[in-house]
Amino acid sequence: MILGNTRVYSVIGNPVKHSKSPIMHNAAFNALGINACYIPLEPSSTELDKVCSLIKAGVLSGSNVTIPYKEAVVEYVDVLTDEASMIGSVNTLYSNEGKLIGDNTDGLGFKKSLFSDFGFIPLGKSAIILGAGGAAKAVTAKLCQAELDSLVIFDIDLKKAEELLEHISKFNYKTKVDLIKSDQVNSSSRKSDLIVNCTPIGMNENDPLLVSPDVFSNNQYVYDLVYTPPLTKLLSTAKSCGAKTLNGMDMLAYQGAESFSIWESVEAPYEIMRQELLNG
Ligand code: NAP
Repeated sequence: MILGNTRVYSVIGNPVKHSKSPIMHNAAFNALGINACYIPLEPSSTELDKVCSLIKAGVLSGSNVTIPYKEAVVEYVDVLTDEASMIGSVNTLYSNEGKLIGDNTDGLGFKKSLFSDFGFIPLGKSAIILGAGGAAKAVTAKLCQAELDSLVIFDIDLKKAEELLEHISKFNYKTKVDLIKSDQVNSSSRKSDLIVNCTPIGMNENDPLLVSPDVFSNNQYVYDLVYTPPLTKLLSTAKSCGAKTLNGMDMLAYQGAESFSIWESVEAPYEIMRQELLNG
C-alpha cells in the first residue's frame, strides 16, 4: 500500500515500458515489509539531469538506470564507485550525505550467473562478445578480471567497439583483447569457448541469427543477455547442437538484488525476485 511516507525508487530509461525491474523490486519490498515502491520513469535526455537532482536531494530514494542512459548519467554523478569506474557506466544511483553516488551491479549479476550458477571457468578460455554497448562493458570487465585468456569483440558500429577496447586497455588486464570484422564472426565463434550476445538482437521474432548455425558445438557455453523471449533463436540453435545455454534472466535478478541491498542495507530476497521475473 502506498502511504504518505512511502519511499520511492525508480528505473530510468527510454523506452522503459518493457522493464521487468518494477515487478521484481516491488515484490522484494512487499516480501520484506519495507515501506517503499519502485516505478518506471521515462525522461528525455534533456530531463535526465532533473531526475538525477531528485535522487541527489533524496526525493527519490534511489534508481536503476537502463538503455540509453547508463553512460549519460555519469556526468551528473558526484562519486563513481570503483566498480562503476571499472565498467565505465552506471546502473544504480543513490544519495549519500548529499552526494549522488553512481554504482554498477550488472557485472556482478553477470559474474554470479555465468561463473557460479552456470559453471563457466574463465581461466585459460576464449570468448566472443557480440555487441559493444553498455552491457558489453560489464561483461568484458568481469571476464578480463577473471583472467579469461582471450576475447574478441564485434559490433556493427566499429566506433563503439573501438571505444570499448580503449576502455578495457586502461586496466592492464592479462586477457588478450581484439576487435573483429563481420566476416570473422563465424570463424571466431566456432573457436570460442564462450559466446555472449550483448546486442538486443533476438528480442523480436524476425531478428536474424547472429552467427551461422554450424558454429556451435557441445563443449561451448552460449550466454544471451536477452531474456525476452527466454529461448532466443541463438539459444535454441546452440542448444540443439549440444551447447550449454543461458539467458539473461538470472543476471537481471542478481543485478537487481545487488542494487536492492545497496539501497536498503539488507540482504535482498533473491529467490523471490527471480521467481517474480519468471512469473512476469
Ligand atoms: P546498447 O548499449 O544499445 O548496445 C548494444 C550494441 O549492440 C550497440 O552498439 C549496437 O549497435 C550493437 N548491435 C546491434 N545489432 C548488432 C549486430 N547484429 N551485431 C553486432 N552488434 C550489434 O545496449 P546494452 O545496454 O548493451 O544492452 C544490450 C542487450 O542486453 C539488450 O537487449 C539489453 O536488454 C540486454 N541487457 C540485459 C541485462 C540483463 O541483466 N540480462 C543487462 C543489461 C542489458 P547500434 O547501436 O549501432 O545498433
